Amino acid sequence: MVKIAYHACYAYSLPEGHRFPMLKYELIPEQLLHEGTIFQENLFEPNYCSDEVVLWTHDINYLHKLKQQTLSASEQRKIGFPQSPELIERELMITQGTIDCCIYAIENGIALNVAGGTHHAFADRGEGFCLLNDMAVAANWLLKKGLAKQILIIDLDVHQGNGTAKIFESDDRVFTFSMHGAHNYPFHKEVSNLDIPLLDGTDTDTYLTLLQYHLPGLLETVKPDFAFYLSGVDILETDKFGKLKVSIEGCKQRDAFVFESLKEKAIPVTVAIGGGYSPDIRTIVEAHCNTFRLAKDFFLMLLVICACFFSMDTNAQSSIRGMVLDSITKQPLAGINLFLSHTSIGTTTDQSGHFNIERIPQGKFELVISSLNYETRTISINSSQITASLQVLLKPTANELQEVIVEPYDEDGWEKWGKYFNTHFIGNSALAADCKLLNPEVVKFRFSRKNNSIRAFSREKLLFENKALGYRIQYLLTKFEYNLEERSFFYSGYPQFQEMLPKNNDEKNRWAKKRKEAYQGSIMHFMRALYNNQLEQEGFEIHQVLKVDYAEYKRASSLFKAYSKAIKNKETISISKDSLEYYKKASKLGANEYSVQLDQLITKEDLVAPIDTSIDATAQFMGFIGWLRVTYQNKRDPIEYARITLKRIDHINSDINLPNKIGLSIYPNGTYFYGNNLFIEGYWSWWEKLSTHLPTDYQPEQTKH
Ligand SMILES: [Zn+2]
Repeated sequence: MVKIAYHACYAYSLPEGHRFPMLKYELIPEQLLHEGTIFQENLFEPNYCSDEVVLWTHDINYLHKLKQQTLSASEQRKIGFPQSPELIERELMITQGTIDCCIYAIENGIALNVAGGTHHAFADRGEGFCLLNDMAVAANWLLKKGLAKQILIIDLDVHQGNGTAKIFESDDRVFTFSMHGAHNYPFHKEVSNLDIPLLDGTDTDTYLTLLQYHLPGLLETVKPDFAFYLSGVDILETDKFGKLKVSIEGCKQRDAFVFESLKEKAIPVTVAIGGGYSPDIRTIVEAHCNTFRLAKDFFLMLLVICACFFSMDTNAQSSIRGMVLDSITKQPLAGINLFLSHTSIGTTTDQSGHFNIERIPQGKFELVISSLNYETRTISINSSQITASLQVLLKPTANELQEVIVEPYDEDGWEKWGKYFNTHFIGNSALAADCKLLNPEVVKFRFSRKNNSIRAFSREKLLFENKALGYRIQYLLTKFEYNLEERSFFYSGYPQFQEMLPKNNDEKNRWAKKRKEAYQGSIMHFMRALYNNQLEQEGFEIHQVLKVDYAEYKRASSLFKAYSKAIKNKETISISKDSLEYYKKASKLGANEYSVQLDQLITKEDLVAPIDTSIDATAQFMGFIGWLRVTYQNKRDPIEYARITLKRIDHINSDINLPNKIGLSIYPNGTYFYGNNLFIEGYWSWWEKLSTHLPTDYQPEQTKH
């Protein structure tokens, strides 16, 4: 549905005799509703734009002057309106209307604001009936939110978009295009990326020819992924100030040409209406209404995933709705399973392909959309920037001949390779004995002699029953690879949890106890403690560790010897204190093949930094160099683990490293992204398996005292 921003306060009453045709803002929606072009549900009322967002574009002193009514008489004269609190509120609302339109435009292809297009507003001042530059604010908002990378502003108001041109003068991400009267206001023109000045008396043919000449080329070269269109109707021959001679029919053709050009390239567009000063207000309203009438035909379903984020109260639980379609037939798909990976939250599409997932907890999740006959899709969902509405296209797995390609696999896979699957995927802690794969026949194995590795795969979901913890798990396996030579293991996939129903209270209590055991000292526990700055209270300690192999040991000790000698002889050496300290430590490590030494204690401040809240309100950033050893004091090494390490200690140790030198985002629920950037050795690499896995919404019960 085409969405249109409008509020009764758009039509602000000016002192009698003021030349600005304020009434048009009321008459346009009235006319459109009256003739049945739109219905009440097409209209929405925007809120006030926040100061934070305004200040991404405007100057703070200027905003204060507007809000506190302290513009000087000459500043007010330049704007053309006497200042008032209502006027600035109106402007903030219109600006938010243009921003909201961008969300709807991404969803529907187009959205319109019944006001806006205030293109004479500069970052630090207003002019020509413009206080805030709504399109500039919305463009910066899109860029900041990552919803657009290259924006084109098509300004076809008869007056040059001088404020817009100046604001984006040195920002390549926004291309400003203005076609305007050469001898019209503003008399000092700024430089847009493309200015087409028009001579007085330019007629319909000339006007349209120029537009048709320039716009397609711009779309080719600028390659915008979002457009703004300022559809001022002051180009009309009847206009008091326009000085051009474009007919009302020509004005309509202009709009149609802009819309068609954008539609052809599937570029979403937000329209704001700009100026129009014909003496008969009916002419103004009629010309503006034409824009809306055409827009209705332009409305299209952009058949891509529309991730339209808006910020939300981070404490609120949110929901996500949308629709799933076949990517080829574009038919809605019923009965498609959607779930948030690693949780018990999910749903199935209804007969019309719609879904609604409620009570999404805080954090970042992968939404998994899967069906046997379609390729699985995943979409990142962040509870603090939830998607307004989602359209998901699924690609059929069958080829044109309606045949499903079956990958080759080893006939006796389970006999040969099953033990690797069980050990590394399900695990071999005490809990693993009660975790059963219910449909082993769906798992196929393939051994590669070339890589000396085993791959396991399945087209269907793996069904597990974990009687130790009381979960049924449907697992969508995307990768399982075990390298026999390096003994390294990599797997990825999406588990969906379901609580099992306990037979009695004993079983219920046993599960609660086992879950808590599984949780204590786990990565989830560690990440939550780190996030909440409770490492010590929760029993964790982190040390930098020095891992040195034999070659490095030899290099470090000989350097340390040489430097020590030089220092003793009072020779001048040039080496930083840090490196000397490192050589000293490394040379003290034994000459074993692989030695480890604990170094200084690491605190949360050393490890974690907040993330720009406008990008992600809940995440923190975790980054470090080298290896860290995480010790959990409140758990003894399990005996099954001690059998592998051949020693038993009274706490558990895991080592972590960022092999790709890329940090992680961590969330309050203990999840972290992206998992493949974290390398784990020690206890966690043995413990963190399917049989010990807890859903991310798990909360340990507080022990009663
Ligand atoms: Zn104008």
